[in-house]
Amino acid sequence: MRRLIDPDLALELVLQRTPPARVEERTLARAIGAVLAEPVIADRDYPPFDRAMMDGYAVRVEDAGRRVDVAGEVAAGRSYPGSIPDGACVAIMTGAPCPEGTGAVVPLEQVETGEGAVVLPRRIRPGQHMVPRGSERARGDAVAREGARLTPLAVGAAASVGRLRLRVCVPPSVAVIATGDEVVDAAEQPGASEIRNSNGPMLGAAVQQLGLPPPRLLHAADSAESLSRSLADADADVDVVLISGGVSAGRYDLVPAALEAAGVEVVFHKVTQKPGKPLLFGVRGRQLFFALPGNPLSSYFCFHRYVAASLRRTLGLPDAEPARGVLAGSLAVSSERTLFLPARVEQQDGAWRVQPLSVGSGNIFACVEARAFVRLPPGTHRRSKGEGVAFHWM
Ligand code: AMP
Ligand code: MG
Repeated sequence: MRRLIDPDLALELVLQRTPPARVEERTLARAIGAVLAEPVIADRDYPPFDRAMMDGYAVRVEDAGRRVDVAGEVAAGRSYPGSIPDGACVAIMTGAPCPEGTGAVVPLEQVETGEGAVVLPRRIRPGQHMVPRGSERARGDAVAREGARLTPLAVGAAASVGRLRLRVCVPPSVAVIATGDEVVDAAEQPGASEIRNSNGPMLGAAVQQLGLPPPRLLHAADSAESLSRSLADADADVDVVLISGGVSAGRYDLVPAALEAAGVEVVFHKVTQKPGKPLLFGVRGRQLFFALPGNPLSSYFCFHRYVAASLRRTLGLPDAEPARGVLAGSLAVSSERTLFLPARVEQQDGAWRVQPLSVGSGNIFACVEARAFVRLPPGTHRRSKGEGVAFHWM
């Protein structure tokens, strides 16, 4: 498909060709941040017994206000044989199983202590300070759902149910090739006509922000040989290749030809959007190739809208949803293509105040504080301060 396509069709084509994640088993110790490919199921009731929540006394509720004997004690990890004798209570520690017949737990500081006996408070709420067996999760219930990212709390939940190996989505591996004869490594001192490579570190950071390992960062000159060498270096066993620059209409924009020479099927090239018109998307087997325009904002926008959506899909994460806010200032813009304006977003009086930034796509400094994109259809737009506006977090 080589005609100019609109941004929605472009996204649809990307998602259509995005393969699902491969799944692997990981130990719990290596699973933090991974996305679950299965629900984690409780192996038994939680808590597995009626659990005391306070250090105190396991009592019968009808003994409220009475003096009762302390018939024995039960510490965490132990159990009390049989039920609480009539007219008595059992000393109990936090985390211990309540003896049979326990109606409530009375905290230590609420009783008067005497010789082998205690006086209970007048008011005891049935069930107080105890957690009934199975009330947190019953055996067979899910304690973490498929598609959830493993947080430390989810790791704790999995450990609670004895799941020390989990099936998780393998995060796709990514390589980034920054192209351009003028582009030098950011660690180098650029010559008078050269610039530092900002897209490489920026795209690497964007990949990592999705919870993926840092991608390999490569550079290619504007020549067919250099591009094909970098592609061969990058794509051996990588799932997604991101290329920055060299995809427009200039004499040295050789990326589309280099991709085709490498056996990549071009799914689309050029999208009716601003920024990011030159975007190219291709596939080869399971591998995806995104050629992003070199202008930093265009590159980042295309990453955000197309690459991140694809990576999220592979990881089984939900698609990003638009949010709504109000314009922080008036807006007058006009474009023949669908416009995506970077925007600052701040919260004020419970609403998101959205300040679109009208900046050139080469000016990375002007949009450093942007946190969202505002989408506007082709045409002329005059919007007033305070009007409602939809935006997409990035
Ligand atoms: P291109 O898409 O190759 O025509 O590049 C468009 C603009 O982006 C040019 O001004 C390039 O110098 C600039 N550019 C390309 N690659 C990078 C990069 N990796 N870092 C910063 N700027 C770049
Ligand atoms: Mg270039």
